[in-house]
Amino acid sequence: MRLKTQLASLIGRHIRVRPAKLAGRRPVASISFDDFPKSAWTLGGPVLARHGVRGTYYTGGSFCGQTVDGTRFYDAQDLTELAAAGHEIGCHGFAHQPVSDFAPDDLAKDAERNREFLQPFLNGAAPASYAYPFGRVSPRSKQSQAAHFSSLRGTHEGINIGRVDLAQLDVISLETRLWDEGRIQDAIGRALHDHGWLILYTHGVSDNPGLYGSTPQMLDWALSRLKAARIDVLPVKEALPVALGH
Ligand SMILES: [Zn+2]
Repeated sequence: MRLKTQLASLIGRHIRVRPAKLAGRRPVASISFDDFPKSAWTLGGPVLARHGVRGTYYTGGSFCGQTVDGTRFYDAQDLTELAAAGHEIGCHGFAHQPVSDFAPDDLAKDAERNREFLQPFLNGAAPASYAYPFGRVSPRSKQSQAAHFSSLRGTHEGINIGRVDLAQLDVISLETRLWDEGRIQDAIGRALHDHGWLILYTHGVSDNPGLYGSTPQMLDWALSRLKAARIDVLPVKEALPVALGH
């Protein structure tokens, strides 16, 4: 990642574009998949179904039907199926480039292109939730993107508790590269204790998930721990009003 992108992201993170205070009435969790590899639906979907929970699939339009570096991505049929099963289709930009790399007009065009791509799978509605590609932000891009979504998610590690920026919610990773059961268990404990909103994220789900994905067993383990803690798991769009106490 270029230094300019990293600097913009660092500065952007500290500018609260949509500050909010979470109500903290009860803990809530969301499970999300970025990009997304087809396995997040074909192998991740059944794990979610076994636990009776629905997730958020942050979809980048340019990945549709593609195989990139050996990873097969979702296709239109997958989007149709997961929407029918009640999962949320979120927006992850079309071209999957860091937002800070775009000129202002190009960022708006990319966002519009992804909204248009997703609308047929959302009964014509616009996606409500957004995840920044690579978790990268900039002050300008946060402002412009926030206008279009009810919540926006980064990849900065943390639990959303108390005062948060709805234009850059924090996450706990379920990816192999960061996998640590103790860390996830601690996060669940803290969400439970402080009535926080825990947003988990990964990419693909398979027996050979690579650094950025999870195995079905890892996903199952995390959902089992949430169930044991009696924390409801809801798509991001539905968890937001719960977290805000609306
Ligand atoms: Zn991504």
